[in-house]
Amino acid sequence: TTTVAVFTRDLRVRDNPMLAAAARGADQVVPLFVRDGKVAAFSARRTRFLDESLSDVDASLRHLGGRLVLREGDPVEEVCRVAGEVGADRVHIAGDVSAYARTREERLRSGLTCEFVVHDDVHTVVPPGLLTPSGKDHFAVFSAYHRQWDAHGWRQAVPTPRRIEVPKVKGRKAPSVRGEGGESAARRRMTSWLRTNAESYTDNHDMVAVDGTSRLSPYLHLGCLSALELARRGDKAPDFVRQLAWRDFHHQVLNARPDAAHEDYRPRGDRWRDDDHAFDAWRAGETGIPIVDAGMRQLLAEGWMHNRARLVVASFLTKTLYLDWRAGAAHFYAHLIDGDIANNSLNWQWVAGTGTDTRPNRVLNPMRQAERFDPRDDYVRRYVPELSGVDDARRPWTLSTKARNGYPLPIVDLAEGRARFLAARG
Ligand code: FAD
Repeated sequence: TTTVAVFTRDLRVRDNPMLAAAARGADQVVPLFVRDGKVAAFSARRTRFLDESLSDVDASLRHLGGRLVLREGDPVEEVCRVAGEVGADRVHIAGDVSAYARTREERLRSGLTCEFVVHDDVHTVVPPGLLTPSGKDHFAVFSAYHRQWDAHGWRQAVPTPRRIEVPKVKGRKAPSVRGEGGESAARRRMTSWLRTNAESYTDNHDMVAVDGTSRLSPYLHLGCLSALELARRGDKAPDFVRQLAWRDFHHQVLNARPDAAHEDYRPRGDRWRDDDHAFDAWRAGETGIPIVDAGMRQLLAEGWMHNRARLVVASFLTKTLYLDWRAGAAHFYAHLIDGDIANNSLNWQWVAGTGTDTRPNRVLNPMRQAERFDPRDDYVRRYVPELSGVDDARRPWTLSTKARNGYPLPIVDLAEGRARFLAARG
C-alpha cells in the first residue's frame, strides 16, 4: 500500500500518531507538507522557525530512508493531486480545532477518492472533546476539566517509524536551515529543562526576570514536541504539567466553540472604546507604565513574552484602557512565534473577562504586579533601556524629564482606568 502523511503543525517524527499510522504496514509513504500561500504572512522570525522545523523533519526522515516532500499552493488541491499522482490508498492528517483546519478537513473528505484518516490525538495530551461534563459538550471551568484530565488514562506514546520509503513524486526540497526551530532543538531544550529547572517551576514561573519557564511554547505550537510525551516526562513537576492541561483546556473550548477565536465566548455587553493613540502606545511599549512597556517590548524584540507579562499587558489593554481584546490578540498573533489560535484567543478572552475566567471583572494592578513579580525591576531595566540606569524604574513619573531619558509619562491614570471599566461592566 501507499499512504500520504500530511504534516501540518505536527512537525516531528517522534510520538506522532499521524506519521506512525501512515507508516504502519505501508510499502511506501509520502511525507508531505504544503505551504499555503493564502495563510496570512507571519513575522520573519516565525517564518524562519517554521523553515527550521521543516528542515529538521526532513533531516529526520532522511535518516529513516525518506525525505519531506514540499509543495506549494492550496493544501487541499495539492494533497488530492499528490494522492492521485502516487495512487495513494490512504491519506493521514492530524485533526485540529481551528475553523481553518476544519474546513481543510471537510474539503479533503469530499475531495479525496481514497481512504482518509484524521487523527485527533496528535496535538494535545487528551484529544479535544474526549472529556465532557455530563450533559455538555465541553468544560467551561478549568479546575473541573483539570481533575478529569489528571484522572483520565493518557494514551501510550507511539513508536517512531523504522523506515520510510518514498515513491517517486514531484516536490520541492525542504529548506535546509538550522537554528532554534525544529524537533532536535525542541528535544534538547526539553531534556535540559526537565533536568535542571522543572523542579523550581513552582517558585520561579511567575517571576518575569527569571528564566523560570520552559520556553517550549513555539515547539508545542508547531508540534516539534509531543505534548503527551512532555506531560509524561514532567511527572516530577505537577505545576508545569498543569500548564499543559490549560493548553488542552483551551483546545477543547475552541473545539466546541470555533467562533470563540473571534467572538466573545460569554458576551458581557462591552462597548469597547476606540482610541488609536492609546492602542499605538500599547503596541510600541510606550504607555509610560514600565512593566507593561517591558512586556510589549520583549514581544517585539524576541517574538515571545513571559506569561505573567502577557497577563499584565492584556489586562491593561482590555480593562485599564478598555480596548477590544481582538485588537490585542491580533497584535500578539502577528508577533508571537508561539502564536496559536486556541491559546491566544482564549487567554485573551480569559483576561478580558469575556471567556472562562470565573472572576471576569478582576483588574490587575500593574504596580502591584511589578512589586510581586519583578521586585528589583530587573525585567523593566532589561527591556526598557531608558530606565536601565535610574533608581526608581517602577515610578519614572517621579523623575525629572532629563532623568527619564525620553521615557513617556503614563497615558492613563490607573485608578481612573479601573473605575471606568468597572462602571462600564456595571
Ligand atoms: P511554561 O510555563 O513553561 O508552560 C509550558 C507549556 O504549557 C507552554 O509552552 C504552553 O504550551 C502551555 N501553557 C502555559 N501557560 C498556558 C496558558 N495560560 N494557556 C495555555 N497554555 C499554556 N500560549 C501559546 O502557546 N500561544 C499563544 O498564542 C498564547 N497567547 C497568550 C495570550 C495571553 C493574553 C496570555 C495571558 C497567555 C497566552 N499564552 C499563549 C499562554 C502562555 O503565556 C504561554 O504558553 C507561555 O508563556 C509560554 O511560555 P513557556 O513555554 O515558557 O511556558
